Amino acid sequence: MQIKFLGTGGYYPNESRHTMSVLIPERGIMFDAGTSTFRATPHLKSDELQIFLSHSHLDHIVGLTCLLVPMLAGDLKKVSVIGEAKTLKAVQEHLFHPSIFPIHPDFNYLELKQDMKLKYGGVVKHVQLKNHPNGSTGYRINLPELSIAYITDTVCDGTYQEFIQGVDLLIHESNFPDSLKEWAVKTGHSCTSEVVQLAKKASVKKLVLVHRDPVLEVDIKQETKQAQSIFPETIFAEDGLSLEFKDGSFQ
Ligand SMILES: [Zn+2]
Ligand SMILES: [Zn+2]
Repeated sequence: MQIKFLGTGGYYPNESRHTMSVLIPERGIMFDAGTSTFRATPHLKSDELQIFLSHSHLDHIVGLTCLLVPMLAGDLKKVSVIGEAKTLKAVQEHLFHPSIFPIHPDFNYLELKQDMKLKYGGVVKHVQLKNHPNGSTGYRINLPELSIAYITDTVCDGTYQEFIQGVDLLIHESNFPDSLKEWAVKTGHSCTSEVVQLAKKASVKKLVLVHRDPVLEVDIKQETKQAQSIFPETIFAEDGLSLEFKDGSFQ
């Protein structure tokens, strides 16, 4: 099973990163719909897509507008947009306000429920992340072959450790390097080392860091090396990263 990182940045796109979307093509599952959503359709193995939104900040929803054409062309037959009621309301009333975007794609809006069943098997669990302006939602998808947790736009406060415990793949934001902790707290985001330490404590199998601030010029290689000294199974995602999970491990 493939996991594709279509976009790995936060806030706004820069030359190397579009904003967040992570796709599981075989299952038609996507986390968030950032500016990278325009990349999704050619990878899909089905004509249905279920999109789980973390929250309604623009960098996580604006890409929903890119799905209008694939839907009108018939490449996508059904798109479900799933999230908390306040998130769906913001998308419907603001992003798709006629003065912002004139045609509302024919989405199926579904309010999150605990233990939602997935079309191709497996269950979705969610947790509220309160340490971000207006809050965010963390997800855990337990598929028959593997489990994936997606946690973004939150201070790494550890309140969700149990939720991510033992997961095969943790996708977690690391908006800032450790040196900008003050900014992380101010803006409701995480720094690298605290995320890596949490992943280690929660005994996750693999950690992929995402949602890096677009204005920061930092040496990601050096930061990754430092992160791997705490938890070796850590990587920093770049746009286009594709992970393959086969026979119980990542290839
Ligand atoms: Zn964000
Ligand atoms: Zn946000």
